[in-house]
Amino acid sequence: MRIVITGGAGFIGSHLCKYLLEKGHSVVCIDNFSTGAPENLPASSENGEFVFINHNITESIYLKDDIDCVLHLASPASPVDYHRLPIQTLKVGALGTLIALGLAKHKKARFLLASTSEVYGDPLVHPQVETYWGNVNPVGPRAVYDEAKRFAEALTMAYHGVHGVDTRIARIFNTYGPGMRLDDGRALPTFISQALKGEELTVFGSGEQTRSFCYISDMVEGLYLLLLSNEHEPVNLGNPEEISILQLAREIIELASSRSKIVFKPLPEDDPRLRKPDISKAKRLLNWEPKVGRREGLLKTIGYFSRKLQRVTNPSA
Ligand code: UDP
Repeated sequence: MRIVITGGAGFIGSHLCKYLLEKGHSVVCIDNFSTGAPENLPASSENGEFVFINHNITESIYLKDDIDCVLHLASPASPVDYHRLPIQTLKVGALGTLIALGLAKHKKARFLLASTSEVYGDPLVHPQVETYWGNVNPVGPRAVYDEAKRFAEALTMAYHGVHGVDTRIARIFNTYGPGMRLDDGRALPTFISQALKGEELTVFGSGEQTRSFCYISDMVEGLYLLLLSNEHEPVNLGNPEEISILQLAREIIELASSRSKIVFKPLPEDDPRLRKPDISKAKRLLNWEPKVGRREGLLKTIGYFSRKLQRVTNPSA
């Protein structure tokens, strides 16, 4: 298949590009490096053809060739990034989704939206099941991301209903692994970077808030299986193994064999207290569930960041 990926230079997008190329598909990656990076792009491909287009997907794009699928992943996704880029985040969720859906409609292509667990906001239902409508503050600091993705889901369903576009919606929960930015501000890379540098780990609030972390290879496989499925309603993708942020900090210190201490900082406004996906639907429909346990995934990620930090401090190494 010939597959367009917006946000293909980002963390999940770039892993997905490589996965699809390995499966022999042709990939057209659209990105403007707003939060992604050129070094994430596949250097070369032995199987499928890879094309990169430097373009902001909030503006129209015309592609000559036939396209079988459009995967819309472009968006800042870490709270630090979307606070820094609030209007760009709203634009890529709204206008970017419109352009990507328009492209899919024009090419009669299948469309997949990368949505998020953030549509559930600070959830009052736990674990979060797809039928839960969420608890989102529309004017809070996380609103630019949460509401953009909620709008994107509504637009996707409208294009499916009105224009018959063959759509999929993935609600992606916290995902991690090699290829994340050390400085993207999220807890997991921040803690690993702090632990490796012997700095204090900055736990926000009491650290009792929970998250559930999915390793990147599991996520990419889930996205691919969803793309191949016939499900138009949203599907949660994530690892249901839940952990408190304080426990995560302790685990990273242990696995990195670090002597770092933990310090507590103020909890950001509207920080979700709990997050854990109910993945029964993905299990049933896609026969998918995560395979990589947290300790295994963390060790791989710590190894990656450790090598990256060594290169920063000693470029000739
Ligand atoms: N967090 C933290 N220290 C940090 C960064 C984040 O304790 O240096 C907390 C944050 O307040 C949240 C959790 O870790 O409760 C996960 O935050 P992250 O930014 O990774 O993503 P989120 O799941 O909130 O989108």
